[in-house]
Amino acid sequence: MISVRVGIGIDVHRLKEGRKLILGGVEIKHPLGLEGHSDGDVLTHAIIDGLLGGSALGDIGVHFTSNNRSYSGISSLILLGCALDKCINSGWRPAFLDATIIAQSPMLTPHVGDMKNEIARVLSLPDTQINIKSTTTDNLGYIGNGEGIACHAVVTMEQT
Ligand SMILES: [Zn+2]
Repeated sequence: MISVRVGIGIDVHRLKEGRKLILGGVEIKHPLGLEGHSDGDVLTHAIIDGLLGGSALGDIGVHFTSNNRSYSGISSLILLGCALDKCINSGWRPAFLDATIIAQSPMLTPHVGDMKNEIARVLSLPDTQINIKSTTTDNLGYIGNGEGIACHAVVTMEQT
């Protein structure tokens, strides 16, 4: 009987002026922020897709449609909490997650601890069960050009 699953989440958002940069629920000082219907939190969106994927519940677009006005500007941490409830209701909960943010700038390492704390709080996971890291593309491609930020997340799910 299968009691553990793995879900993957991948997301990309465009950087633009006039937006706050929010990653893992943490506001980071930067001249550009991430475009999006919500707060554009690409890390949290990738984690949501990992959770939903590991629970065989589709993806973020199915559960939180971008034409729903109630999600306009919403903190993605609220969506993460809703996604967690959906997973638990279907019999699955996260046991461990690992995520990589891919961004040329700003330097994200100093903010990773705060991001972990926020995600751990919403998921009710010890922060030892969460790993968040960042990398660049060595100035290559749209991420290296500063056009956007991407994130990959892998979430291990266990049966409740
Ligand atoms: Zn997104």
